[in-house]
Amino acid sequence: MPTFNPPKRLLMGPGPSNVSPKVLEALALPTIGHLDPRFVELMDEIKELLQYAFQTNNEVTFPFSGPGSAGMELCLINLIEPGDKVVVCINGVFGGRMKQIVERCGGTPIVVEQDWGKAVDPEKLEEILKQNQDVNLVAFVHAETSTGARSDIKTLTQIAHSYNCLVVADTVTSLGGIELKIDEWDIDASYSGTQKCLSCPPGLSPVTFNQKAVDKIKNRKSSVQSWFMDINLVLGYWGQGAKRTYHHTAPINSLYGLHKALLLLKEEGLENAWERHQKNSELLCKGVEELGLNIFVKEEERLPELVTVTVPNGIDEAKVRSYLLNEHNIEIGAGLGVLAGKIWRIGLMGYTSNEENVKTFLSAFQDALKNK
Ligand SMILES: *Cc1c(COP(=O)(O)O)cnc(C)c1O
Repeated sequence: MPTFNPPKRLLMGPGPSNVSPKVLEALALPTIGHLDPRFVELMDEIKELLQYAFQTNNEVTFPFSGPGSAGMELCLINLIEPGDKVVVCINGVFGGRMKQIVERCGGTPIVVEQDWGKAVDPEKLEEILKQNQDVNLVAFVHAETSTGARSDIKTLTQIAHSYNCLVVADTVTSLGGIELKIDEWDIDASYSGTQKCLSCPPGLSPVTFNQKAVDKIKNRKSSVQSWFMDINLVLGYWGQGAKRTYHHTAPINSLYGLHKALLLLKEEGLENAWERHQKNSELLCKGVEELGLNIFVKEEERLPELVTVTVPNGIDEAKVRSYLLNEHNIEIGAGLGVLAGKIWRIGLMGYTSNEENVKTFLSAFQDALKNK
């Protein structure tokens, strides 16, 4: 059997995005021990760089070992006790997953339902909270990668706080791609991913918890159901303080990669990265509309890092996608759930978001629409 040699692809789907060669180099550096003093220094630097990316001073800010879904479960399993009522806003696939996790934690989900492709309506959240005064946690998704819609998490958080609830915000596709200010917006707990706008390989979930969230976890009546995900135990390794103790073996080389990706983000500057995502997305939308197609989400609620395009009548969306992959080495995403067959999902995340890739995609897309 020969050594695996992956094809060269332009990754313009909902994640992973293309990884910078500089990050790939970092991943290939020699492995050292997960308690080596030099590695512990690297961990501290990663925490500091993540605080910058999240715009937070939260001490509990670190990359959890596992993909975005692990971060989702980590936040919810630590903040929910059996019997808790939790409001979950659902405007796409990922809100739906949060609801399932709430149930598995023994909580009772109360759903704020929103049409897929739209932002969560803050008035609907307020209505539900008014009717359910015994709720203490609200969960929502900032950037719904399944639909391409951006919700106003600043306003949603303000409303949740005015009803004495903490919030958990999914920022998997927002971190590094669109404006996100954990401290200024007073977001209590949030999880992200590395393979979207940070352009790392998948497998790590940056998370951050503020003091209110940490206090709530410290004051739990029951212990967290999962040993691996119990924040109190995880912080024995990732927490502040002189002594780092073994919890699990950290994915050492993945953390080299994340460190490099975060350095690149800092070098570029967060605001510049947000602006780059916005600019290239506008270019993409303009080009798509010039081909006679429509963008699925209305302009004010569009995510720059994930553009959804309505599939025109009479076109087999799967054929267009395979043509792009086979003839042009470009990957884009399909619609999920109720949007299957109805939209394409085109990602411009992290390292992938540049003008040249937009142009390459548009000419390939035009070719695919003609020849599918
Ligand atoms: C990708 C994604 C996730 C899940 O991340 P994985 O790394 O695939 O587990 C969760 N939420 C959102 C909004 C995402 O885009």
